[in-house]
Amino acid sequence: MDGMKAVDECWRRVRERLRDEVGDMTFERWIESVRLESADESRVVLAAPTRFLRDWVAPRYTDRLRALWRMETPSIEDVEFVVRPALTPADPAAPPPGADDARFDDAGLGVELDENYNFDNFIIGKPNELACAAARNVSDADEIPFNPLFIYGGVGLGKTHLLHAIGLRVRARRPGRRVIYLSAEKFMYRFINALRYEKIMTFKEQIRSVDLLLIDDVQFMGGKESTQEEFFHTFNALVEEKKQVVVSGDRSPANLEYMDERMRSRLSWGLVTEVHATDYELRLEILHARVERMGSGTRVPDKVLEFLAHGIAGSVRELEGALTSLVAHATLIGAEITLESCQDILRDKLRATRGHITIEEIQKKVAEYFNIRVSEMSSPRRARIVTRPRHIAMYLAKELTARSLPDIGRQFGNRDHTTVLHAVRRVNTLRREDPRFSEDVELLRRMLET
Ligand code: ADP
Ligand code: MG
Repeated sequence: MDGMKAVDECWRRVRERLRDEVGDMTFERWIESVRLESADESRVVLAAPTRFLRDWVAPRYTDRLRALWRMETPSIEDVEFVVRPALTPADPAAPPPGADDARFDDAGLGVELDENYNFDNFIIGKPNELACAAARNVSDADEIPFNPLFIYGGVGLGKTHLLHAIGLRVRARRPGRRVIYLSAEKFMYRFINALRYEKIMTFKEQIRSVDLLLIDDVQFMGGKESTQEEFFHTFNALVEEKKQVVVSGDRSPANLEYMDERMRSRLSWGLVTEVHATDYELRLEILHARVERMGSGTRVPDKVLEFLAHGIAGSVRELEGALTSLVAHATLIGAEITLESCQDILRDKLRATRGHITIEEIQKKVAEYFNIRVSEMSSPRRARIVTRPRHIAMYLAKELTARSLPDIGRQFGNRDHTTVLHAVRRVNTLRREDPRFSEDVELLRRMLET
């Protein structure tokens, strides 16, 4: 009895840690419904409610779950998955994640469009002018100009904004048009639920009855064939019936490693366009527009805006975040915004965009992640079990800190800078070749950045 309780406690802690690592959204969508089936000294068996879910979670999280379990019970050797269907959707012991998503009868298939994400609020500059022109074209043309429109680019560069803008514009021009905006993750999710509750026909009919389908962040579609397959068919059906499809992703269709070949090529049949990283002019203009939208009373000197546009070269989201906290702070203490106050307030923020992560932190996190000793980071051992993590740590040190290659080499057991360079290249190659490896690196990066 006590043993059982202890095991449940372990499981609870493992889940909490994993939740911290992957974020609430991913956790709730994919991991929450996984139950503990059994556990002894060496083996943990977890139960997923569907085969699909198991096939999604097992390849991505088994290693991590094993490492987390070992922190509780060092003798654990295996973490395995089995499929145990939840009894009924209403079973309180096993609520399927987002069970309310199963209501397919209402029109709430997509997600509400955000009225602020319209074309008027979208500032056009060199980096995004093509993508924006294509988006406008799709919204305003009477005949479908290209199908699909695929917009890709890095985080926070306006892809979601553009998708919403298209939806809003089409709705405004032609009331009654059925517009559905959905993240790819949600699409999959709804699809799985439809399968689970035998509503798949309804789901298909609903999706296929739309006039404009906006699918955001298609890189999260990946995974199992069944959803990709369904998306592929839905996609073809819509295109055949001359319904517009717009898709966004964090990379071009050709680089969506997880997607099957057919889907990748299908996604590039229409027009593929990139939103590029912002440049100084675009950032400055976005800032000006933002200040204007904040209304009278908000005075931000040009110098300050220029300072921000220079200092925050990341995503537009970061830029907006910085401006917001600056204005909020000034309003709170009733002070004017000056370049000096701006520098003070944003020092932390600016530092956060580069340089506050230390090599020691990286080494520690990576070692923990791969379940090796931190001392292996500087040891001469060359077994792959330690070189892989070491390479990743060097790579992350290069990416996330401002330290030079020789500096980094020194901290990894006095290695030469060419060793670091080699590690960085090696990781880059592996990332291209192996999506799972790439995911490990990304996850680590995210863990370190937050
Ligand atoms: P993505 O989907 O590419 O990650 P978002 O569309 O969510 O990025 O954009 C992040 C934030 O930046 C949003 O608040 C969006 O309104 C704003 N934004 C991005 N690009 C522009 C732009 N060109 N003009 C105005 N706002 C922008
Ligand atoms: Mg987005």
